[in-house]
Amino acid sequence: MSDAATSTRRVPYFDYAKVYEAYRPDIDAAIDRVLRRGAYILQAELTEFENALAEFLDVRNCIGVANGTDALILALRAVGVGVGDEVVVPSHTYVASAAAVWSLGATPVLADCGEDHLVDVASMRALISSKTKALMPVHLNGRMCDMDGVSRLARERSLIVVEDAAQAVGARFDNRSPGTFNSIAALSFYPAKILGCLGDGGAVLTNDADLAEAIRQLRDHGRRSDGQVVSWGFNSRLDTLQAAVLLAKLSALAGELERRREIARRYHEGLGAVGTVELPPHPDENQRRYDVFQNFEIRVENRAIVQEALARAGVGTILPWGGRAVHQIDKLGLTANVPGTDHLFEGCLLLPMNQFMTDDDVEYVIDQAVVCAE
Ligand SMILES: *Cc1c(COP(=O)(O)O)cnc(C)c1O
Repeated sequence: MSDAATSTRRVPYFDYAKVYEAYRPDIDAAIDRVLRRGAYILQAELTEFENALAEFLDVRNCIGVANGTDALILALRAVGVGVGDEVVVPSHTYVASAAAVWSLGATPVLADCGEDHLVDVASMRALISSKTKALMPVHLNGRMCDMDGVSRLARERSLIVVEDAAQAVGARFDNRSPGTFNSIAALSFYPAKILGCLGDGGAVLTNDADLAEAIRQLRDHGRRSDGQVVSWGFNSRLDTLQAAVLLAKLSALAGELERRREIARRYHEGLGAVGTVELPPHPDENQRRYDVFQNFEIRVENRAIVQEALARAGVGTILPWGGRAVHQIDKLGLTANVPGTDHLFEGCLLLPMNQFMTDDDVEYVIDQAVVCAE
């Protein structure tokens, strides 16, 4: 067993510098090609990346935009969400999911989460009103929501589905990616996301050709491919430089997803028997899902003590979004009756989870967590 007091090992929550280190020759070559051509806005690498990612995910259309939050805003806007509408969003999410709704003059209505920490479809159902326009399932931690339940509910009540897939690139439900459930989905390429770029980036996914064309126009001032302005729009394009970097990283993605699943298996082996720790679903638990573990979100008793002890042992952990669900952010003035989310946020903690961790790193985190949690 490792002894925290004498150990020199450190496992930071996420090491941003490692991203570049891991892909340096490919990133340097990609940037060099773009800079030499002076090709910055809506150039070849953007289309190449969009096509390559669409193919990898088996989605008909992928449109690169400036960041994940914009991807949500443009998607909501394209499906017609506007002033006076309500959109049902889980409270267990990043503030950006709700803020995207708010930014269009619509109201986010906050639903509860279930045992796997993802939105509970029954809770969504109970919140539907005559003003509800869309449902926003959020595929947190690299795991897709119950898309059977969400799709059925949307069909029954004639609602649109806008998926927040910012944490779920590569995740599948019944072998289908976000954006393929008669829906439109948002991805984020924030540096700490599974497929991260060197700054901000995002994309919209959809099988619907008309929605895809609407997003292409909305991201570029309402312009059509012939340059004519045909609607109001935004400036929200994914930089060609970022697209070139993402394209260079894309070939490693499948292996990275598998590595994350392997780390999740190890965490289950090492921590599954610790009574004070609740783990996310095992990667092999359900053949309908392919979870990609953007994060490894556990719930522990005595979280403050565990987190502090892990920090002393050199293991970086974080509280999701500073430890607050959206309804717990006082200044936003949203209220919600979400007992499952309240319970989760009393003890949720993110353990280190990324493709740059070695087996020794994972073993070290497990050893320390076992000691701290007992
Ligand atoms: C990261 C994230 C976003 C926002 O993505 P950005 O690219 O940072 O704008 C939205 N929703 C969720 C759940 C996220 O994790």
